[in-house]
Amino acid sequence: MKHRTCGRGDIKKWPVSKEDASLLHKGGDFLSNTEDDFLSKEEGDFLSNTEDDFLSKEEGDFLSNKEDDFLSKEEGNFLSKELEDFLWKCDEHVDKKLSQFCHDHSQLCCSDCVVKIHSQCRKVTQISELTNSQPTGLEGLSVELETVLVEIKTLQISQVASIQSLQRTYKEHSAVMIEQMCGNLYTYIDECDNNSVGKSGGNEQYLKEEMCRNVVSIMNEFDNITAKELNEMKDEVISIKRSVTSSIHKCTSLHNDLSQFHEIVQKIGDNKELCLIASIKCKHIIQQALTLLGKSGKVFNVQSNAKHNVRIPSDSYECSITGICVLTDEQVLVADRGNKRFKLLNQQYQVVSHWDVARVYVRDMCQITPSEVAVALDKTPSNTHNVQFITVTQSQLTLGRKLELQHGCTGIACHQGELFICSGSALYKYALSGKQLCRLYEDRSLGYAVNKCAVSPTGNRLYITSWDKLHTLARDGTLLATFSDPALECPWGLHVTPAGQVLVCGDWSRTVLQVGWKGQSKLATLATEEDGVWRPMAVCYSSKTSSIIVGQWRDNILVFRVE
Ligand SMILES: [Zn+2]
Ligand SMILES: [Zn+2]
Repeated sequence: MKHRTCGRGDIKKWPVSKEDASLLHKGGDFLSNTEDDFLSKEEGDFLSNTEDDFLSKEEGDFLSNKEDDFLSKEEGNFLSKELEDFLWKCDEHVDKKLSQFCHDHSQLCCSDCVVKIHSQCRKVTQISELTNSQPTGLEGLSVELETVLVEIKTLQISQVASIQSLQRTYKEHSAVMIEQMCGNLYTYIDECDNNSVGKSGGNEQYLKEEMCRNVVSIMNEFDNITAKELNEMKDEVISIKRSVTSSIHKCTSLHNDLSQFHEIVQKIGDNKELCLIASIKCKHIIQQALTLLGKSGKVFNVQSNAKHNVRIPSDSYECSITGICVLTDEQVLVADRGNKRFKLLNQQYQVVSHWDVARVYVRDMCQITPSEVAVALDKTPSNTHNVQFITVTQSQLTLGRKLELQHGCTGIACHQGELFICSGSALYKYALSGKQLCRLYEDRSLGYAVNKCAVSPTGNRLYITSWDKLHTLARDGTLLATFSDPALECPWGLHVTPAGQVLVCGDWSRTVLQVGWKGQSKLATLATEEDGVWRPMAVCYSSKTSSIIVGQWRDNILVFRVE
């Protein structure tokens, strides 16, 4: 077989008649319509809006701020009238000046705030009365600001890189798929060439038509299977890119705020009231930055708890919920391993539809985009392992592409298009295309040594549950911390919130714990058997409803409202 390289133009160079050509054009829709549009337009948007701005303007800002500080120190430290006004301004009521402080909310208030928001609060004091009792600690804040500024910048750079890598993955994968299709075509044409040697005139027309039909069928197969999968992946890339871009913009805006406070802290002078206001506002902005960095450290406080039955009449076994994802419109998709089916819950957590997976064990589930999940499946009789993509639109489940794995598939997590898959004894990283990128971690000691995984919001940390421990790994798989606790027997499902709060289920201890983002210490036992917890297998946090949803080996799920 001759192996030719393939470009899109090659197909059109064949010596074929007009009719044949139009027949050929019916195939290969994907080639003619989709690819270029996506790559050129999206790529263009990205380059023109985000990256350039970021690299030139932001970088510039960052450098110039530093420089300004040095210059101003030489010139003499003073706060401009503009910055002074900015400090005095109420965030809620822009034309009002701050005058008081609410201790209940730890918030600065103007006179409008006091009347409209804090009228019921127990302790509201004049700012002037506080200046002697509250240390401002501005020097410490200055150091903290510098650290956070660098971290936000690093996050932004890594997010830009992750979008670029995601687009590259898509481009490479589609190129490989198109190359493969062309290979099939050429193999077929070569076969035809060899078969037709020596055959005479009468058959020529027939052979040509036969050839066109077969070529069209090869191209149609490409359109119906491969192009569909490529389009699915393209939609994922666009959706993920949208959310990462919005996070990049948040970084930009926070970086600007942090820089401004850095300047203020350097120049503020000794006006006690102004120093106090600056320190309170500064702490607030640092907290916002830490939340974006997944280091909020905020401990959940459980307000209420409710049980919701997820058993349906056709269930043969007790429910065993091994995966939970909160989708768009607050619909919840749960994986019921016991009954080998998925169940879609409405906002009231009632089962509104279900989808069966015969002879398959659902081991875990993770979110890819707001409407798409990836499910870790083990097939029972054949012992094959898959990742199945599923899209939910208007209460309908649609099966997407399926990745075949060469190893077990006990846990799955996704971060900006990168898949992390636990095999039971190792943690692997995969591209969205299904290409294995690397093995990050291995522990062959026990059956469930690498069981379930979760990723921090920045992608900097990976968490895995391992028999009786919770391990925390760096991005490259280096073990950073190991946590165990009597209240966490047989840790199973785990979840990281967008602010970086780590939630872990203790299967045997019948508990749900919050662990610090460093993975070193317990922050709280959020729920126990007394709250109805029974062999919890999966946990998920919903930001919109501020709830923690717990799936267990029982017919009900638990929903904890938290603050
Ligand atoms: Zn106000
Ligand atoms: Zn208040």
